[in-house]
Order: sequence, then C-alpha cells, then structure tokens
Amino acid sequence: MSLSEFDLIATYFQRQPKHKSVVKGVGDDCAIVSARSDHHLVMSMDTLVLGRHFPQAASPEQIATRAFCTCLSDLAAMAAEPRWFTLALTLPEADPLWLERFSRALLSIADDYACELVGGDTTQGPLTLTLQVHGEVKQNCALTRDAAKEGDAVFVSGYLGDGAAALDILLDESSINLQAQAGVDKKELDYLSGRFYCPEPQIKLAQAIADYSHAAIDISDGLVADLQHIAVASQVDIDIDVDALPISSACQKVAGDRALQYALSGGDDYQLAFTVPAQHIALIEQINADEKWNMTLIGKVVALNAGEPDAGKPNPGKAVVRCFQNKQLFTVKDRTGYQHFAS
Ligand code: ADP
Ligand code: MG
Repeated sequence: MSLSEFDLIATYFQRQPKHKSVVKGVGDDCAIVSARSDHHLVMSMDTLVLGRHFPQAASPEQIATRAFCTCLSDLAAMAAEPRWFTLALTLPEADPLWLERFSRALLSIADDYACELVGGDTTQGPLTLTLQVHGEVKQNCALTRDAAKEGDAVFVSGYLGDGAAALDILLDESSINLQAQAGVDKKELDYLSGRFYCPEPQIKLAQAIADYSHAAIDISDGLVADLQHIAVASQVDIDIDVDALPISSACQKVAGDRALQYALSGGDDYQLAFTVPAQHIALIEQINADEKWNMTLIGKVVALNAGEPDAGKPNPGKAVVRCFQNKQLFTVKDRTGYQHFAS
C-alpha cells in the first residue's frame, strides 16, 4: 500500500465530529458517545461482500450508499433514530481515488441521517465492508417483530419488487437493450438502479407510525419471507391480498409477468412492513395523505392456524403467511427469500 493504514484513516475517515453526543470519535482505541438516559440503545451490523451483495461493476459511491442505507434500514425497522456508526473496511489496495469517492459518499449519507462515523478497522484483503449502526429509541417504544396481534392491518411503505427488477438489469447488461426495445425508457432504468443502489431507509416514516403500530420489519429478503418472521415471532398467521401490492410501473414494464413474483419474493426493497391495530388505521391513512408517503394496506393479521382444528394454539413451526387473489389461495413460488448457505 502506498498510503499507510494510519494516513488512510486520517485522510478519509477522520473528521471533526458534528454532534456533541460524540465525546471521542475516530482516532483513539475506542469511541466514546453519550447516550440519552430516557432512551434505549439499538444496534445492528451488516457485512457486504463484493460479488455477493453488490455487482463487481459497482462504483465506490454505489457501494458506500447501498451498504450504509441497507444498514440504516434496520434502524428504521425498529423505529430508532440513527446516531453513530463504525466501519470495518477490507480493501485489496489503498487506491486514493477509490477511497476519496467512497468516503465522500459515505460521509454525505452520514450527514443526511445525522449518523456519525466514530470508529472502525482497516485491513487488506478482498473488498468487504462491515458496518455497525447504533441508534436510539425512546424506552419501550421500539417496533419489534414479535408484537403483531390478531386483527391488525398489514401495511407496506413504497413499492415492492423494484429491487429484484433492478438486479435483473444490473446483472445482465444485455437485458438493457431488450428492455429498451420493450419500451422501457432510460428514466425508468435509472429509477430502478436507484432503488437498488440508494434504497431509502424509512427512518422518518417509521418514527411517524411507531406510536400507532404493533410490529414492523424491513423488507430485505422478500415480502413473504420477511412477513413470515413477524408471523413466527408473534405467533399469528398473516393473510395478504396480492392484488393490493404496490408495484411501480417501471417494475411492471421491466419484469412483465414476473412483477408480482418480484413483489412477493424479490429481495432488496428495504421498505417497511408493519402491523396496525384497527383503531389506528384511519390515523395511519391520514398520516399517509398528509406526508404523501405511499403506504398501502395489503392484508391482515389473523389467528394462528386460522380455519384449522388447532387454531389459536401456540405452534412455532406452523405460523404462515397466506396470499390470496380474488379470495382464492395464491401459490408463491419462493417463500423463503435469499439465504446464505442454503444450497
Ligand atoms: P487499534 O490498533 O487500537 O485497534 P486501529 O489502528 O485499528 O486501532 O484504528 C485507529 C483508529 O482509527 C481507531 O479509532 C479506529 O476506530 C479508527 N478506524 C480504523 N479504521 C477505520 C475506518 N475504516 N473508518 C473509521 N475509523 C476507523
Ligand atoms: Mg488500540
């Protein structure tokens, strides 16, 4: 490496902390932060590996943005406020141009979400990033997966399926020409690419709905797979109306017949799915209209094993997400979403 490890850290990752909650930032053995006494600390870690979590051709800005935003999305899923993060960066080489672009993009998102970089680790090896985000949430106000109740409505934010449609295009350059012929214009391709590389962590939306919702999750592995986590953790079943799913026109054009499948099982959307007790549905719809947030009611929480002889009895293995179209059961091809080590 032409640039030493310490020069690299000092040049690209060390800057004057902007928030007074940071007592000691990058540069000492540990970071020191001051957390609010009436809040809980919330933390989550994600690792991204080149070629597995982002295509080989991704730019430094795209890598930084996707890594950080997907991590922040976990904080959104708990209705937490982003505060601090750490970065473990493994690089094949210390390329100043790459580092300049990567760190500028990363720190600009840090500014956007008021989430301060307070430390990390830098090593040499195949390109891999691990980010740990730390957030705060008012005590006992976090949204969790295990709090859905029978009778709740199920809402999602934004559009579903865009992430999977984008990946179709990003992994197969030749398909871009096909899409162009199929009448998909550049604006739509750019929109989808943006959904993949710059997913918008739903931090504000989550805080707005938190007081009126029971359970939440961010959709990273696919709607059905992620709702299944809520169903199992909450010991309920969930019924989804597939005709209600919000699908963007770009996804529809690019994915064609596969659009519905993408909305149900495609990963990488980083939208929120959350459950709302009946008495708060009108309020959520009001917030939606006021803020122009595009939240959609897509289903409801029902009793565990509804309609079966053992209905209502705890049975962790059996909680299910059912999909319906015109009131008929609709079969979802891939219910499990993406899983490492699965094959
Ligand atoms: P130590 O030897 O005590 O483990 P390091 O040499 O690994 O410390 O790191 C020196 C300082 O730089 C620490 O404050 C660490 O948190 C920070 N740091 C290292 N790598 C990064 C990075 N990629 N981003 C931000 N801070 C980093
Ligand atoms: Mg040390």
